[in-house]
Amino acid sequence: MDDMQRARRLPRGAFGALGRGFRGRCPACGQGRMFRAFLKVSDKCPACGEELHHHRADDFPAYLVTVLTGFLLVPIVLAVEMSYTPPVWLSVSLWPAIAFVMAMALLQPVKGTVVALQWYAGLHGFEAAKKARQGGAA
Ligand SMILES: [Zn+2]
Repeated sequence: MDDMQRARRLPRGAFGALGRGFRGRCPACGQGRMFRAFLKVSDKCPACGEELHHHRADDFPAYLVTVLTGFLLVPIVLAVEMSYTPPVWLSVSLWPAIAFVMAMALLQPVKGTVVALQWYAGLHGFEAAKKARQGGAA
């Protein structure tokens, strides 16, 4: 792949990169899969070779998922509990299950978004990739 092809595939702005990360795609090209397992980020993009092993997402995606799940679920729980007053056994079994499913569904997209943010901002080991992008665009 030459530099022109690569440049055409670069995301348009931060939201383009974050959207690619949210979908689990490489932030640089949008084609290759970012994850080689559920939460294991590939060392390199299989499509364009962009190095992704520099990311330092650590626990940040888990914190964000916790906040998001609570932010989305608590109003629903309060509305349902106040409107319908379901039996306790149903509340005790239903809400934790829904919270678990929501957290599992959000973890990979949120981690992809965090990695894409680090890539776009040139954090940690992504400085060289950011400088190469900016040099290629100039
Ligand atoms: Zn790529």
